[in-house]
Amino acid sequence: MIKVAVTGGAGRMGSLIAGLVTDTAGLRLGAVLEREGHPSVDRDAGEMFGASVAGIKVSDDVAKAMEECDVLIDFTSAEVSMKNIRAVALAGKAIVVGSTGFTPDQKREISSLPGARVFLAANMSVGMNVLFRLVNEAAKLLGDDFDVEIVETHHRFKKDSPSGSALRLAEAVASALKRDPESDFVYGREGIVGERTKKEIGIHAVRAGDVVGDHTVIFGALGERLELTHKASSRETFARGAIRAALWIPGQKPGVYEMLDLLGLK
Ligand code: NAD
Repeated sequence: MIKVAVTGGAGRMGSLIAGLVTDTAGLRLGAVLEREGHPSVDRDAGEMFGASVAGIKVSDDVAKAMEECDVLIDFTSAEVSMKNIRAVALAGKAIVVGSTGFTPDQKREISSLPGARVFLAANMSVGMNVLFRLVNEAAKLLGDDFDVEIVETHHRFKKDSPSGSALRLAEAVASALKRDPESDFVYGREGIVGERTKKEIGIHAVRAGDVVGDHTVIFGALGERLELTHKASSRETFARGAIRAALWIPGQKPGVYEMLDLLGLK
C-alpha cells in the first residue's frame, strides 16, 4: 500500500486528487497539506474528502508528512513545488509534481538533485502527451517551410502564462527543428514588429471564463495549414494522470520522469 500526501488540498486540483486517492486500490491518503494560515489547516480531512479519511488533520508541515508518506502529489505553484521537491529529496521519498511555471534555472536544479524520484509533468492527460509526440513528428515531416504558432486558452483564474503545456509543445517543435527556446520563442505580438521570421515559434495565451485547457498548434505554409488541437473538458483527466504517476513512481530508480516515460512513449 502506497501512502500518499496531497498538497494544495483545498485547491481545484488538490481537492480532486485527494478524493481520488481515497477511491484508488493500492493508495492510501496519509496527509493533506495546505499553505500556512489557510482556513482549512487543522480541519479534519474527513469533512472535506469523506469518512474514510476522518481523523487526518489538514497540515502545513510537509517535512512531518513525509516522515510517514511515500509519495507527495503537488499541484500548487512552481515556487512552492521547488521547496517541496527539496524536502522530498532529503527524505528520500517520491514526488509527483503537476505545478507549472518553472524557470529554466529551477528545472536545472530539479535535474541535479541527488536521490530524488521526481515525476514532473506540465500536463498529466494521456491525449496531451500523445500530442507532444505528434507535434514533434509533424514538425520533422513538415520542416522549416511551415510557420509554427501555438495558441492556448485557459480559465480566468490561471496564474502563469503561457501554460506549461504550450511551452512543452513549443519545446517539442524546437527539438525537431533545432530551434533555440531562448531566442526563437516569441510570446504574443504587438505594434510594428515586422514580418515573421522563419525561425520563430509564436506562443499566445487566451484567458476566459472556465475553460479547462485548449491547445492548438498551427503549422502554416503558403496555400495550406495543418492544425493539431487538444481540448481538456474536465480536470479529472489531469487528476487521473497524477494517480497513475503516484502508483508508478515509487518503483522507479531516483531520477526525473515525465508522463511519456510512464506511457512508454519516449
Ligand atoms: P488552485 O489555486 O486552485 O490550487 C492551489 C492550491 O495550493 C491552493 O489551495 C493554495 O492555497 C495551495 N497552496 C499554496 N501554497 C501552498 C503551500 N505552501 N503548501 C500547501 N498548499 C499551498 O490551483 P489549481 O488550478 O489546482 O492549479 C495548481 C497548479 O497545477 C498550477 O500550477 C496549474 O497550472 C497546475 N495544473 C497542472 C496540471 C497538470 O496536468 N500538470 C493540470 C491542472 C493544473
